[in-house]
Amino acid sequence: MPLSSHNYRLDLGRVLDTDVPLGPLESVPLVCFTASSKNGKLHGEKNCGSLRSSRSVEAVTLGLGEAVERLCGTCSWQMPSDAPLVVFTRSVRNVLWAASYTGVDTSPDVDFTPSDEADAAAALAQGDYPPEDEHDQAESDRYEHARFVRERHYGHWRHLHSSMLESNSAVVAHPWLAAWAKPIQDALATVIESERRAFAALLRPDALLDSAAVPQLEAPSDLVSKEGFTGLGAQAALALGRAWSGWADAAGRSWLALEGDRSSASLVLHEAFGRRRKGRDEAYAALDELVRSWCAEARSVVATCKAAPRRLVAVSVPPTSFDSYHGRTRDPLSQWEAGVIAMYQVAANWPAGTVALLVPQLIAERLASGTDIAMSVTSLDTEETGLPLDTLLVQLGDPTDR
Ligand SMILES: [Zn+2]
Repeated sequence: MPLSSHNYRLDLGRVLDTDVPLGPLESVPLVCFTASSKNGKLHGEKNCGSLRSSRSVEAVTLGLGEAVERLCGTCSWQMPSDAPLVVFTRSVRNVLWAASYTGVDTSPDVDFTPSDEADAAAALAQGDYPPEDEHDQAESDRYEHARFVRERHYGHWRHLHSSMLESNSAVVAHPWLAAWAKPIQDALATVIESERRAFAALLRPDALLDSAAVPQLEAPSDLVSKEGFTGLGAQAALALGRAWSGWADAAGRSWLALEGDRSSASLVLHEAFGRRRKGRDEAYAALDELVRSWCAEARSVVATCKAAPRRLVAVSVPPTSFDSYHGRTRDPLSQWEAGVIAMYQVAANWPAGTVALLVPQLIAERLASGTDIAMSVTSLDTEETGLPLDTLLVQLGDPTDR
């Protein structure tokens, strides 16, 4: 192997300690540099600062298991980036990353006081913004802070999911890590659950249910004949069709009350009118009326399903990813999906990456339809299978069963 492929600098001493089970890697030979004393630190670099004062430095080759308690914590070992030891330490790091969220202190991301949380929940139960007839700066600030609290809980909860799923992958790739990782994963599951509760307290179950009905609505066919849009002239049919699909898409994917998703429809009108003013106010008023009728239609679908029993489904929670080009986290889940998981979760099997949700039928139908759904959804039936929920979740998460 050419020397140039040894391009990865592995900071072994920072990642491994005697607690981490090494499995078959215990016997991997490791070339180290050491001062001639028998029990001195082992270094990956001959010119490590802590060897500078040593009179003689020698190269020794030891098995990793033997070397691990003497590894220098500051220097690194050069090896190919795909060396088994590099891949293994990446897994160990992922478990340690999970462990870093399990301390007694609340993460500074979600370090809100109980009264902050309670006030945010009280505000958001009414809506995302103060009622339109109130123009009080203090109220606007209060709602803004409430939305911020919800955004933080949501982001942190999803971040913890990703950390848990990374630790799962680590254990799958290196199964002998399982026993070491288990208490860490158990502690992380507790933190995830408390974040889920905090986030769910800031959501509206009625809004999630209304949104579930939106994809069932048929696209209205009589839009052009609606009064109030003469100002759009020949563009009316096209603009109103786009206003409908913009509204339906936004309303079906968000956790807001249906009325809160009006902006994408308004944007279509805004673009269609451009700088023209004639007929604009009438058109906006007519659009408000239209959106109100769409909301009412969605709610009538909800009402027809109200008596149906809840259904049990399992979903595989997908991780978030980091978009390094835009420098931000991307979540494959829509707000609505994230909200549904948080609101209706009744059990979780984190080593399997699956959670069970007990959802109103309308939501179960929407999830099962697969339309715009970013997570894998399976119907669960404990009666039919005779298996307890925990067992079903484990089976779902077992890759050999898929
Ligand atoms: Zn060193």
